Amino acid sequence: MTSLLERFDLDRRKLLMDRSRPGRLGTTLPPLDVPVSDLPDQSMLRNSLEMPEVSEGEIVRYFSQISQFNFSIDHNFYPLGSCTMKYNPKLNDEIASLPGFAQIHPMQTAETSQGAIRLLWELQEWLNEITGMSGTSLAPMAGADGELAGMLMARAYLLDRGETQRKNVLIPDSAHGTNPASAAMAGFDVVTLPSDANGNTDLDALRSSVNEELAGLMITLPSTLGLFDTNILDVTKIVRDAGGVVYGDGANLNAIVGRVKFGDLGFDVMHSNLHKTFTQPHGGGGPGAGPVIAGPRLVDYLPTPIAARNGDAEDETFSLVEPSNSIGRMGAFHGNFGALVRAWSYISTLGKEGIPQISEDAVINANYVLSQLRGVYDLPYDRTCMHEVVFSATNLKRQNGVRALDVAKRLIDYGIHPPTMYFPLIVDEALMVEPTETESKETLDYFIEVMKAIAQEAADDPDLLHDAPHNTPNTRLDEARAARRPVLRWTPE
Ligand SMILES: *Cc1c(COP(=O)(O)O)cnc(C)c1O
Repeated sequence: MTSLLERFDLDRRKLLMDRSRPGRLGTTLPPLDVPVSDLPDQSMLRNSLEMPEVSEGEIVRYFSQISQFNFSIDHNFYPLGSCTMKYNPKLNDEIASLPGFAQIHPMQTAETSQGAIRLLWELQEWLNEITGMSGTSLAPMAGADGELAGMLMARAYLLDRGETQRKNVLIPDSAHGTNPASAAMAGFDVVTLPSDANGNTDLDALRSSVNEELAGLMITLPSTLGLFDTNILDVTKIVRDAGGVVYGDGANLNAIVGRVKFGDLGFDVMHSNLHKTFTQPHGGGGPGAGPVIAGPRLVDYLPTPIAARNGDAEDETFSLVEPSNSIGRMGAFHGNFGALVRAWSYISTLGKEGIPQISEDAVINANYVLSQLRGVYDLPYDRTCMHEVVFSATNLKRQNGVRALDVAKRLIDYGIHPPTMYFPLIVDEALMVEPTETESKETLDYFIEVMKAIAQEAADDPDLLHDAPHNTPNTRLDEARAARRPVLRWTPE
């Protein structure tokens, strides 16, 4: 006998087809008031197609229920390190939904889309100012796409100078995983640089890796350890003096925006993730924007198109142009326009005065979490962090056989999204926590309390964590089987 509570649990997980009852309808069609016409060619029709037969009320309940099964920033705290799952003001969605933005067609002429091109131009100008660089292309559709664009630009620049022997790109072991992938896709050989004991780039290792084959360096700043590399001026100088191009991964600009400019640090090219620092809902891999931003040496190589202003302030017009040595297009048209409108709206709302508040709050929040959980979880690099803090669950593993994965799964029971796990690779049992700038002290205090409670549970009852989560529609999954043999369609019992 299943109890009522068990039945409730089974019912809420029922797929739509399993809720179907023959003859039940969700709509009532009006009487036919047009002539009956023949169906198309029989060969194009299916003989049977199983469709769920449910009432309108049931279908509303079904979709509302499954929408609640999703974890979202609109429901819960989401400290997924490096992803910047902050609250995105709804105003920006409203602006992007205005008909003049939402219904514009990419094939329209410049004369009929002056406002849209002007918006792109203004956003480029703002990003140039925010980063201290010379030019921006908004074309790349994601952070990794911006990286690829930047490395293709570096390659075109070196080839134009006849420096064909330069094929090595140095990448610190604290870089984001997309960095080596992008360098390799652009045709370079990747050489990994170690970090020193403080989590900075090891300068001795850098000096000894620099030779005539050096194409450049890709560095994530702040690094995936959540640390600002205090050697950065030496790092960029060593690479530039040796004839290399310096690439900066500025995906997590929310750590430094309004305070530090990549252009002042000696970078030649960088990207920034508008969907992280400058708003755009992006859970589940939704659309993003990863503009590539260049200094003087690489600005002519930017991907096309670039928005340009012609004429003076009295008589200005806007057009799309191609930089003189452009590497070409990163995709069709002008990038993810809706994401660009949201970023424009977000930056306009904050203004010059509001922008530095982003980095101040992001860094204070992360350091508050660091200070409160020091001693509860291991802290492999115990120094002031930037927008995120990387803990390690090695102490729990050693004492109780509880791993970072178990802690992450148990957090779900408390209504908190797991942090990024097992990354960066140089930290054993890593838990990378990014609280973001939009969370209140109450939320951070709850998270801290929960993390302490979980550490206590690990000591008292490790199996509770090994089997977690317990309160969700799906409990602990066999992740290998879920990935290899996913069940993607309904089949009748
Ligand atoms: C998120 C991130 C990326 C990749 O950005 P996508 O938009 O996911 O392609 C690259 N580098 C860093 C440091 C990131 O945090």
